[in-house]
Amino acid sequence: MKSNGFHHALTFCKETCVGCSHCMKVCPTQAIRVHNGKAELMPNRCIDCGECYRVCPVDAIKVEQDDFDFIFNYKYRVALVPGVLLGQLSEEINPRQIYSVLMELGFTHVCEAETGAEILKHAMENYVSKNPDIRPLISAFCPAIVRLIQVKFPSLVNHIIPMKPPLDIAGLYYQELLKKQGVNEDEIGLFYITPCAAKIAAIKSPVGEVKSVINGVINMDFAFNKVLTTIKQSKSPSCFVPSDSYLSPQAILWSLTTGESSNMPGRSLAIDGINNVIEFLEELENEEVSNIDFLELRSCDESCAGGILTSTNRFFTAERLRNRAKSANRKPDKTEVGMEIRDFNDYLVDHLKIEKIEPRSMLKLDENIKGALEKMKKVNELMEILPYVDCGICGSPTCQSLAEDIVREEAEVSRCIFIQRILEQKGTFTQQESIDVMKEIWGEKKLDKDLK
Ligand code: SF4
Ligand code: SF4
Ligand code: SF4
Repeated sequence: MKSNGFHHALTFCKETCVGCSHCMKVCPTQAIRVHNGKAELMPNRCIDCGECYRVCPVDAIKVEQDDFDFIFNYKYRVALVPGVLLGQLSEEINPRQIYSVLMELGFTHVCEAETGAEILKHAMENYVSKNPDIRPLISAFCPAIVRLIQVKFPSLVNHIIPMKPPLDIAGLYYQELLKKQGVNEDEIGLFYITPCAAKIAAIKSPVGEVKSVINGVINMDFAFNKVLTTIKQSKSPSCFVPSDSYLSPQAILWSLTTGESSNMPGRSLAIDGINNVIEFLEELENEEVSNIDFLELRSCDESCAGGILTSTNRFFTAERLRNRAKSANRKPDKTEVGMEIRDFNDYLVDHLKIEKIEPRSMLKLDENIKGALEKMKKVNELMEILPYVDCGICGSPTCQSLAEDIVREEAEVSRCIFIQRILEQKGTFTQQESIDVMKEIWGEKKLDKDLK
């Protein structure tokens, strides 16, 4: 299937796929089809939410990550660590131990990925007050949501606040900090420990930017296992960690549900879970929602605590981060630590904006409008004869998507099992033809059973 040039972090392994279609059924953008008994991705529809990855029973869907040795291409190797990694480990393991293991692995510096959250918070507040005509404004924090709006709700793209997430601000900050210490920019590698595929896609092909400041990604499940194994083996971490950076309670909670909305002025809502978000955006698009100033939308249940690359229960992760935020609240030295980033405040504010976010074409029925309208008419005609049961036996997730596939000449109406029975009754379709069609969708093996 044709690619539109957007980077995707998920790949489907044909050898392992058993054609169970679980992924196709949960995909919120209908980006998967089954052909010859294997799942196939339609790249221009995929938003990298990872819902397919969650349900695959045989691990046939892989999340890419950079080869760990890639970090050694740089003399100064900065690990950008999201709070969610810390929240997955027992409270008896302190951040200093975790950072020490990361440095034993080869990083030379560690920076919490939410370090820039305070700066972003003020910039977002300003943006909300300076743009009173656009309501609600939507956070750009979750890249799966940004892509969802681009492909499925293009009329809402101008509602997205065009600002980088805290991760990029932390990256820019650390880059500037090292440069100020005399380090050459080419020698600095910034590596994000990611809880999800969407962040990988956002780093490899950022929306509203030509190139991300982040140089590479390390998947969080890999980092979690390394940290846990090292600490369990009682190899006492011996690295010197240069700073125990202070994060405000707001920054610690930023990646959890309500992490952003609780900081924004006016009426704000936080919605997590991709299907909840879609339901809400449909209401917003139909103008059934009003008087909301700000929307925090996250693809995962419990936001980043529920990312597909996390390893432990999302509710415990969220609880630990809340406990950490409470104890940060009580820190007596909060005005003294974490000052360094404020020296870079003006630079970061100047660099946190991104270009206008554009809609992405999910399904072009035709290149020109007249052709597209004619084809839309054909889709509607097909929907008159299709059964509206969305069984997926045709290899497309819904009757509507089969109709669209037919109009784009990627499928035949005879793929529908109900249509097959009707044609058989009329004598225009044989049983063997029906079996051949099913084999084409589900592969030889599924229909090659020796029943007694
Ligand atoms: S990542 Fe999300 S959008 Fe992409 S194929 Fe999987 S479920 Fe569909
Ligand atoms: S969930 Fe999708 S990728 Fe995984 S085995 Fe089933 S059809 Fe294949
Ligand atoms: S909620 Fe967080 S972990 Fe989930 S897709 Fe969005 S950014 Fe990634």
